Amino acid sequence: MTVLTNLAYVKQELEQTCSRIGRQAQEVTLIAVTKSVKTEKALEVLDAGLLHLGENRNEGLLAKYEEIGSRAIWHFIGSLQTRKVKDIINIVDYIHSLDRLSLAAEIQKRATKRIRCFVQVKTSAEEAKQGISPSEALDFIKQLAIYDKIEVVGLMTMAPYTENTSEIRHCFRQLKELQLQVQAQELPHAPCHELSMGMSNDFSIAVEEGATFIRLGTILVK
Ligand SMILES: *Cc1c(COP(=O)(O)O)cnc(C)c1O
Repeated sequence: MTVLTNLAYVKQELEQTCSRIGRQAQEVTLIAVTKSVKTEKALEVLDAGLLHLGENRNEGLLAKYEEIGSRAIWHFIGSLQTRKVKDIINIVDYIHSLDRLSLAAEIQKRATKRIRCFVQVKTSAEEAKQGISPSEALDFIKQLAIYDKIEVVGLMTMAPYTENTSEIRHCFRQLKELQLQVQAQELPHAPCHELSMGMSNDFSIAVEEGATFIRLGTILVK
């Protein structure tokens, strides 16, 4: 399938979901996750009119950045090892996986400009999922105030991979509730306007629950 064909399907789905719940499709930014495809395919994504690309490993990001450069807006969506921050921090536009103070300190040390960060929250009980627990998230975000290179633009989560849609919805709802709690604090360093949630298999549920960034791999580029 071409990216254009896939994109047409995604857009239709997104528009239907939005009209059903009274949201505007333009409120939702599509991030094309290109982690499992070659640069060629990422270029096809850009030619199809998408601007946001997501990668989850330094190697993939750097290889693609070499050819694409700042034609794209780059999102780092994977778990980020502290010692590898320096290699990518000044080419990415967004980091979706801020989940510990040691990582924040390293970003602060290496970034030459302010980095837009999502705090990753573990809303599901799955062992392997990264992220800070919901009960610790607010405190964690308050502690980020000392790092002037970090702007907490929003929260990010991954729902479990399951057929059980109410379990998925519950994860997204938790993230939304947490966002409201953070926003109520009116923290200058954490406007927290955005919610990064929803992947190929669950993006419609995420949009229903308030996602403003959805991260789509398979459904777009396969
Ligand atoms: C791979 C990945 C995605 C995209 O997954 P698909 O199911 O292929 O859409 C989104 N978010 C993160 C964090 C990922 O690692």
